[in-house]
Amino acid sequence: MLTTVPELLPARTLAPAPPQDPLRCPACPVGTVPLVTEGDAWLTCARGHRFPVRDGIPVLLPGEEQRWSRASAAGAPPDHRRPPELDLTVVIPALAEAANLEGLMPQLTSVLDGTGADYEVLLVVGTGDVETQRIAATHGHRVRTLAEAGRGYGSAVRTGIAAARGRYVVSMDSDHPHPPEFIRSLWDQREAAELLVASRYVAGGRATMPLIRTVLSRILNLVFRRGLAIRVHDMSSGYRLMRTDAVRRLPLQARDFDLVQELLVTAYCHGWRVAELPFHYQPRQHGRSHAALLRFGLAYLGSFRRLWMLRNSIAAADYDDRAYDSVVPLQRYWQRTRFRHVTHLIAGEGPVLDVGCGSSRIIGALPAQSVAVDVLLHKLRHARRFGVPAVCASGFALPFADGSYPCVLSSEVIEHVPKDSPMLDELCRVLAPGGRLVVGTPDYASRLWPVLEAIYARVAPGGYACEHISHYTRPELLAAMAARGLAYEEGRTILGAEMILAFRKPG
Ligand SMILES: [Zn+2]
Repeated sequence: MLTTVPELLPARTLAPAPPQDPLRCPACPVGTVPLVTEGDAWLTCARGHRFPVRDGIPVLLPGEEQRWSRASAAGAPPDHRRPPELDLTVVIPALAEAANLEGLMPQLTSVLDGTGADYEVLLVVGTGDVETQRIAATHGHRVRTLAEAGRGYGSAVRTGIAAARGRYVVSMDSDHPHPPEFIRSLWDQREAAELLVASRYVAGGRATMPLIRTVLSRILNLVFRRGLAIRVHDMSSGYRLMRTDAVRRLPLQARDFDLVQELLVTAYCHGWRVAELPFHYQPRQHGRSHAALLRFGLAYLGSFRRLWMLRNSIAAADYDDRAYDSVVPLQRYWQRTRFRHVTHLIAGEGPVLDVGCGSSRIIGALPAQSVAVDVLLHKLRHARRFGVPAVCASGFALPFADGSYPCVLSSEVIEHVPKDSPMLDELCRVLAPGGRLVVGTPDYASRLWPVLEAIYARVAPGGYACEHISHYTRPELLAAMAARGLAYEEGRTILGAEMILAFRKPG
């Protein structure tokens, strides 16, 4: 049985259908040349521009297509886009574990043979570990050793992931608590998430451990789950199946056991799905020494602060989604009021093109046939859970035909781009005659906003406040829209500091 965490993986998550109206090539004059699908991985235009579709999301950024063709012309795509040669790679940090490996390897290869997958096993060894190399040699070409690139468990796993030739990678320990039979369950559920955790602490999972370890492990997981606001019950289980291309690109630093949490949290912050599969954990009898336990604990605590910063930075894929439930009362009020105003102003206007959607919960409230657009792919990956088709594109060259949407929304975006950029023109271009444009941005003429922003910049350096490069006032925004022929209809504010204005394009 697969146990998933509802917040991470609602049922309607997966690869929403692409928008109905053909997308337009952003590398050709805007809005003119349709893109057609080529397999399920590419979109091409009649003039030969070619764009990738990644995880069901077309990536239509001008420049993206050139990078792809240059890479293929050179015959060597960048490392992380290297197509997998095998189905599965099993990575085992095998630092002085020859005794365990002797027993494990026959079981492991027998389980892997049973999956029908084309696989390899990578044993990451310390320098001079001839015993492990000897064991590997007895298992044929599918088992090889790899010298660790640094010292410690984390370095070994990262070394293995970097070298993996499989489309998926399993990380496991060489000792008894990670029985190889469980790989079959992980393999069967590989489509469920990009990171699948063998979990001791979800329903159906269990850990047979000495009391002291159970208590420490539970506390550790509780601290990480609550502190980092990730609803995963077993973040410290190192037995996992991962999609190689998803984890290979993550900026990981941990060298020791803290890699286990770092990898999960970082993957989640990049918008990848995490799910847990119930697992019975039975460590070897003598267990880890108290000194080793202390070392894990210290490594974990050391990484907590770094992971907390990552979780709470605007770079986290679910930042906007989480803000709706923020523990900071003002932020929660702000997000929920914005949600109410925006949904009111778009109601009854038909399908919405949400430009600069981020990972906001507004996406989940858009009517049928709406499309969510953002320049940040990882935010769209997270937003797949809302079940709305997503397109990765720039607001400067929207990949849509003129007048193709009866309602266009852009909330909290225009303050992030220069005033002389084509953004406002683009919003008006894709809006259908007679359609409604809803634009939200801070009102810098208000008394409250500049004060709030100064406080925000102080308490959250690197937050959104520092990215607000275009400061609009209400008269200025009204004039900008009037100059483009749009008529102002109605507006709302959040405490007078953020304005959300609705305009009508002449029919
Ligand atoms: Zn083109």
